Amino acid sequence: MSAVEIGDLVEAWGGVQDDYQSHRDAAKDRIVLECARALAADPGGERAHQWTFGLVMMLPYVGWLPGDDVPGAVFDAVRAADGALRDRPCAHEAHPYAEDELEDHLFWLGDLVADLVDESAEWDEDEHPRDAWLCPRNVAGFARIAMDFIEPGSATGIPPRLPEDTQRDIESLAAVLHGCPRPGTDVDSELSRVGDALGRATDPDDRAGLVIAAAAVSWYAVSDLMRSKPVLDALAAGLEAALSHLSDARCAHEGHPGLPSSGSDAVWVGLHLSSPAGRRVYDIERMSSGWGAPPEALLCPAFTAATARETLARLRERRETLFGAGSPEAPDIS
Ligand SMILES: [Zn+2]
Ligand SMILES: [Zn+2]
Repeated sequence: MSAVEIGDLVEAWGGVQDDYQSHRDAAKDRIVLECARALAADPGGERAHQWTFGLVMMLPYVGWLPGDDVPGAVFDAVRAADGALRDRPCAHEAHPYAEDELEDHLFWLGDLVADLVDESAEWDEDEHPRDAWLCPRNVAGFARIAMDFIEPGSATGIPPRLPEDTQRDIESLAAVLHGCPRPGTDVDSELSRVGDALGRATDPDDRAGLVIAAAAVSWYAVSDLMRSKPVLDALAAGLEAALSHLSDARCAHEGHPGLPSSGSDAVWVGLHLSSPAGRRVYDIERMSSGWGAPPEALLCPAFTAATARETLARLRERRETLFGAGSPEAPDIS
């Protein structure tokens, strides 16, 4: 493939990346699908790196698409590439995929890919030589980054990344709690979703994180800015469901940390703790910033139960004040 051809391709991929949220469009779908098909046709081939990097570049668009025809085709292609390339021999001590966040890769890949394909091009990436980028194991790492982006938890051996949906929820809830919801936000359903997620959670640690998130949004839900019975009901239902799993929660801790006093900080903590990848990201952030309580204390069942009870009492009191005592069926939470 000539430098001009690859230049055109990279430009097309960059165009898909750049205005990914404007609208779904058949031309962009076609660019993504052609790239995925080329990779799927020869996932361990000489040009696998080119198609894999192209798909990584377009992940923001792919992740935003409704339905799963296009994301599914991308997922199958990158999974095949990972399978074909991950165990190839290599003598590198480090690979680029393992050392940066996806956002950094997205920023640089457009410039790098053309230079990777055209071996006569000057190489001015300082951190890694060209052959480390071209290494099959590096390409496999990028393929796994794409897998995990599309299906969180589907790949291992890559830097942990907070699932896209969780990132969106943190930003959207923080905007609500700061009193400036993003345009188009349905505040009621945004807050209720925390309670709904809590009702569906099956893993005790996921549930503990969501209890913290529910506590964080409960202050807003009981404030004079909100007078919504559905929100109070949804959060209360989620907490009741959580407490049904925590009836005999005990621990040997001498005390527990308080939650961050800012609602948006507490949402950040709670939603990070609500998934396995998020907990790994939380650990890393905590290590590098020194901010945040130890996760084992925040995930403690006794702490979770106490937080859930306190939050539920606050929500019920508000519901009674606004809408009268209409909950005689409420289970005992003492
Ligand atoms: Zn290597
Ligand atoms: Zn404890």
